[in-house]
Amino acid sequence: MIEERRSVTVRGIVQGVGFRPYVYGLARRHALAGFVRNDPSGVRIEIEGDPLEVRRFLEELPRNAPPAARILTIEEADVELNGAPAAVRSDKGFHILRSATSGRTRPLFVADRGTCEECRRELFDPEDRRFGYPFSNCTQCGPRLTIIEGAPYDRERTTMAAFEMCPSCRAEYEDPSDRRFHAQPIACPECGPRLDASLDDFVDAVLSGKVGALKGLGGYHLVCDGTSEPAVLRLRERKARDEKPFAVMVGDLDGATALARLSDRERALLSSPRRPIVLVPKRDRSLLAPAVAPGNPNVGLLLPYTPLHLLLMEKVAARPLVMTSGNRSDEPIVHREDDLAQLEGIADVVLSHNRRIRVRCDDSVTRVVLGEELPLRRSRGYAPEPIHLARAAPKRILAAGGHLKNTFALADGERVFLSHHIGDLDELRAFEAFERDIALYEELFDFEPEAFAHDLHPDYASTRYARERAEREGLPCIAIQHHHAHVAACMAEHGLDAPVIGVAFDGTGFGSDGTIWGGEFLITDYREFRRASHLRAVSLPGGDRAAKETWRMALSYLVDAGIEPTAPRSPVVVDMIKKGVNAPLTSSAGRLFDAVSSLIDLRHRISYEGQAAMELEWLCGGRLSDRGYPFVVDESVDTRPLIRAVQEDVDGGMEPTEIARRFHRTVVSILEAVCERLREAHGLSRVVLSGGVFQNALLTESTVPALERRGFDVYRHRTVPPNDGGISLGQIAIASEQLSCV
Ligand code: ZN
Ligand code: ZN
Ligand code: FE
Repeated sequence: MIEERRSVTVRGIVQGVGFRPYVYGLARRHALAGFVRNDPSGVRIEIEGDPLEVRRFLEELPRNAPPAARILTIEEADVELNGAPAAVRSDKGFHILRSATSGRTRPLFVADRGTCEECRRELFDPEDRRFGYPFSNCTQCGPRLTIIEGAPYDRERTTMAAFEMCPSCRAEYEDPSDRRFHAQPIACPECGPRLDASLDDFVDAVLSGKVGALKGLGGYHLVCDGTSEPAVLRLRERKARDEKPFAVMVGDLDGATALARLSDRERALLSSPRRPIVLVPKRDRSLLAPAVAPGNPNVGLLLPYTPLHLLLMEKVAARPLVMTSGNRSDEPIVHREDDLAQLEGIADVVLSHNRRIRVRCDDSVTRVVLGEELPLRRSRGYAPEPIHLARAAPKRILAAGGHLKNTFALADGERVFLSHHIGDLDELRAFEAFERDIALYEELFDFEPEAFAHDLHPDYASTRYARERAEREGLPCIAIQHHHAHVAACMAEHGLDAPVIGVAFDGTGFGSDGTIWGGEFLITDYREFRRASHLRAVSLPGGDRAAKETWRMALSYLVDAGIEPTAPRSPVVVDMIKKGVNAPLTSSAGRLFDAVSSLIDLRHRISYEGQAAMELEWLCGGRLSDRGYPFVVDESVDTRPLIRAVQEDVDGGMEPTEIARRFHRTVVSILEAVCERLREAHGLSRVVLSGGVFQNALLTESTVPALERRGFDVYRHRTVPPNDGGISLGQIAIASEQLSCV
């Protein structure tokens, strides 16, 4: 019989997802000999046998791959039959060989994955040897990024190396037909990690109203009974978190449906292996304590994503539990026993285990807008899966990201590894985590930067980090304007390369002219941008304080509109505005929302970022008014007529709800009017929407169809957040293009 031998290299997310057993099974079914092994660039296969079967194998290979796998490329080559390794040629079996560890190209890592259906079934099967075992997993599910210590992904380079496999686990691990074949974190009650205290006691404490700290996948959660108002209030008080909504874990989709009205897309996201927190509309009457998400029409729900969470939810009889990051206020989430002191005075009871968390990773947060995912925080379950650039970066670039909601990113060829959520770099602990996690990613991806990118803001901790390293290592360093990065991030997601109309509406970012930007219309490709229009700049009295005390912005806009504030809260601030003392200029869209929120007496100061704008959105109850306020589009957008009209309505005693709806309508009209003007001037009809303001679902839902009706192609974020969590991707896209043309 004529035999054929072919070598196949598969690249993509193919390690740690059960790919080798899949290949093994496939080869056996087609009666082929050969081998499969992980190597630094992905999975390497050689098959030998009947040419017809070889062809069938190759056809089927991408089609039935394990669900967690993502194949990018399959390269095939002929192999000299007599050139095959003797050990393999001598018998006609199919083998799984040990990983090769040489070579620089690194495989793509998978993110942590929520417990699969099979593992869940075993967990509750009294006959199974893993019955009730909190650390069960398989090739399809379990920890990945959070336990990785090196590459390639093998048990000895994870925090599971500390646990010696028992004979039963070893047998499963080595049996190619077993669904735990080479599941690196494989474990059982005999040999694997253990809880350090009783889950029952923990459950009793939580059900009696206490606050628990629970070690999970990427860190500690603070847990309390989500149906008990006193318990939730106690947690708020101790965590110094006045009003920011808490996420809630429910037992299953039925539990979620009891608390919220879910679309199919939302149900699918909740139960996907990524298991993010999904922001969904609350039901009016539910068990949920009001203090979970005060005044908020939405609630962030998530399903159990580890066996430990499944057991916990079972033991509390699926009662909804608040599950919030184990930290004080906005510090990074605690992930090591050594740091538990930080939760002292917050948690009454602690439940830990002895599987070390190597990478601290917060829960991801997402929502569905117009049927598509709108990510708010891309972290556990997503990071560090790569995002692909349309064109390979000419150098290995490290982008330091922004200042708030920081993520950093590494570009290696066409792949961008966007980090998990690091947090606000004001916090020393967050900055330490930033440095440590950059070092870890460099090690994991065998990545040595050849260039740095950072925000234009000279005082961001991330900027200083990038500059210092670039100087020390003698490498190029590129400063990138904040809103250019926002727009470029969204362009990169969609692989756009021609110039677009980029709308960046957000809080603040350092502008090229030294003022503070945030209501920007840019004509841009990656290489450069032109500030084509923007909201009229007003003063920001007291600088950063104006972002927290929204009444300052109300005064600023009133003075700008020529309205003398009657009985102002602070004549000193009015003076600051008029004289321009400690009152830098800003065109921020976020601050305009803040001002209106204060003008209608909704919120004069905030306790978390974006609160005033969110409450303004909630007040609308999902509806715009048919009527909007006047404004003038010129070189910039004159908001003075808008402010005068809002103030007139306030004085006339109009319902705040109607004013909020008219205001939202006006913002949509501004976006339409400016885009029309820019289309005329530049002949561009692609509009890219970015910036934190587009986390506002009502605004996004209204703007997209409004622009589409006018014939624009509208692009918005689906992969990275529109907020500053997406900045690092934009920095990569721009730096990559700029480095290409020098
Ligand atoms: Zn599983
Ligand atoms: Zn075992
Ligand atoms: Fe921003």
